[in-house]
Amino acid sequence: ATIRSTRTKKTKTVCTFCGVGCTFEVWTKGRKILKVQPTPDSPVNGISTCVKGKFGWDFVNSEDRLTKPLIRKGDTFVEATWEEAYALIASKMLGIKNRDGADALGFISSSKCTNEENYLMQKLARSVGGTNNVDNCSRYCQSPATTGLFRTVGYGGDAGSIYDMAGAGLGIIVGANPAEAHPVIATRLKRAQKKGTQKLIVADLRKNEMAERSDLFLRTNSGTDHVWLSSVTKYIIDKGWHDVAFLHEKVNGFADYAKSLEKYTLEYAEKVTGLSKEQLIQTATMIHEADGTAIFWAMGVTQHCGASETSTAISNLLLVTGNFARPNAGAFPLRGHNNVQGACDFGTLPNFFPGYELVTDDTVRARYEQAWGVTLPAEKGMDNPAMIEAIHEGRLKAMYIMGEEMAWVDANANYIHAALEKLEFLVVQDIFLTKTAQFADVILPASPSLEKEGTFTNTERRIQRLYQVLEPLKGTRPDWVILTEAANAMGADWQYNNPGEIMAEAASLAPLFAGVNYERLEGFKSLLWPVQADGTDTPILYLEKFPFPDGKARLFPTDWIPPVELPSEFDLLVNNGRLLEHFHEGNMTGKSDGINHKVPDTFVEISPELAKERGVKDGSLVRLESPYGAVKLRVLVTDRVRGKELYVPMNSTKEDSAVNLLTGNHHDLTTHTPAYKEAKVKMQVLNVE
Ligand code: SF4
Repeated sequence: ATIRSTRTKKTKTVCTFCGVGCTFEVWTKGRKILKVQPTPDSPVNGISTCVKGKFGWDFVNSEDRLTKPLIRKGDTFVEATWEEAYALIASKMLGIKNRDGADALGFISSSKCTNEENYLMQKLARSVGGTNNVDNCSRYCQSPATTGLFRTVGYGGDAGSIYDMAGAGLGIIVGANPAEAHPVIATRLKRAQKKGTQKLIVADLRKNEMAERSDLFLRTNSGTDHVWLSSVTKYIIDKGWHDVAFLHEKVNGFADYAKSLEKYTLEYAEKVTGLSKEQLIQTATMIHEADGTAIFWAMGVTQHCGASETSTAISNLLLVTGNFARPNAGAFPLRGHNNVQGACDFGTLPNFFPGYELVTDDTVRARYEQAWGVTLPAEKGMDNPAMIEAIHEGRLKAMYIMGEEMAWVDANANYIHAALEKLEFLVVQDIFLTKTAQFADVILPASPSLEKEGTFTNTERRIQRLYQVLEPLKGTRPDWVILTEAANAMGADWQYNNPGEIMAEAASLAPLFAGVNYERLEGFKSLLWPVQADGTDTPILYLEKFPFPDGKARLFPTDWIPPVELPSEFDLLVNNGRLLEHFHEGNMTGKSDGINHKVPDTFVEISPELAKERGVKDGSLVRLESPYGAVKLRVLVTDRVRGKELYVPMNSTKEDSAVNLLTGNHHDLTTHTPAYKEAKVKMQVLNVE
């Protein structure tokens, strides 16, 4: 070891494990992580962290890290130099582009990567690939939420900051489980509730921790949130509790919207949702009486066939009650990955340049063409599910995937595996030999967040800097370096010396980030977009106006889209989601000893009544089969679930237990977000134990 490696060093980073965006100092000696220390300077978390942020980092020193580029030779991979890997990527990607056209290429970016890396990925797709076929994993989670907000209030981001979430007089959590998926936000909500400054309503099928703590638990039938939200809104209007002045001054479309709610009577909602009239009235009354209502939602809403409609209904309810354009209120989709907000903000979407400017807008496109010195495609590209279809149909031939475990995270895993198998050429850039990487022709070894600089944007639109805690592991490179080198191998001439230069370019092109620069983000400083050229940021959106030509928000009538029907032999509903200890599919936390020791495997939660009916108990082994695939899981009997509703955590990348072997191809009609929450199975008992 060198003298330098024996020194203890403290470096600020941003947590990579969820959209809360906690920051802390990491104490290291050489490559050893001594401790993770939050500080009062952390704008989001202060001195708090959760178990993942505190103990989830062993994976960076895992022996499983990729440290050499790999090239497929038949059924095996052989080590290659970076030059060989880049040369092959250039010849295959450009060869396919020349032969089949630019739209035969697809690019998948990563919500675990930085804003700067996402900016480069969309630039690679558009300016080098010549296609808008670029997407990121927000397609699987929050696209419907963003659609609901675009339709009604204009910005695809949280209405306020984390302080407004906890400051609202009433918090309504719909289809989200912040105690496990956004722990530090949950802590703030719990504290406010304990102090008596916030009441909590939770709407969910599963009695999760927040539901247990709530003042009112709305235990809904699956996929019916749109109905109770619309019914409560109608009741509020019928009682005359809507905010007449706010609607008159700031919102368009009230009369049409009120008319569209006619069918959503309390009786209808009672029948569809399983809630009682009293619960619906109590909800409306609590909203009416609250000093500010904030609604938090996540994948329990967004992973249904009617997800965009439900997300829109949430925003409509908040508009009708005047709960936008003020502190301590508004719409708060809870972003899952640490940088899913930033991946979208910085343009890894098939229809948007960075800052949500349309690729089909000639003026905007001309700005990028001039800056990048290329002609850009004018048509919207394919999203992730459309790309998978195009592979199956032989229209999309090559793909470049950065840091995304599509093989286990996309719905209907068997269908995805068949698509990846069918690709003529696949590049995967990752830190581990993931399942997705096993389909690749070229694998590029990347660096995780602790080994690079850049920025992440958390769920509240807060942009924060991460500094390099560790040198990249020998043989690996940060994603922004790899993307730059790959682009240059394909004929570009990108000259970036550091991520700050990439951010400067993005800020010069995207008005939403005009005033973002690294000096303004130094240390624990942060900025919430939009950021004006003079550096003024926007903790609370819409205070002056809504970003539509007349400055007014728009009520957007929607109708309920019921969950998909499957043959009746598939009689059990499989709800699914995160666990506190693990990050997503578990590729990173599964390689962190402390965490893996605590929760080594996944399982299926079964209700006491179903366990009795089927003769199973804790530890029994069951086989679940859907029309798309099958898994084997150990049983956990718990009253968190009821009746024929099961719950399977998503933290498995095992061939016989990954939950997406069960999910299907049906999806939200507007955004194509898979309806992960509409999976149905039949159950076979393998071993009672
Ligand atoms: Fe990391 Fe999220 Fe936990 Fe904060 S709450 S430490 S961001 S995983």
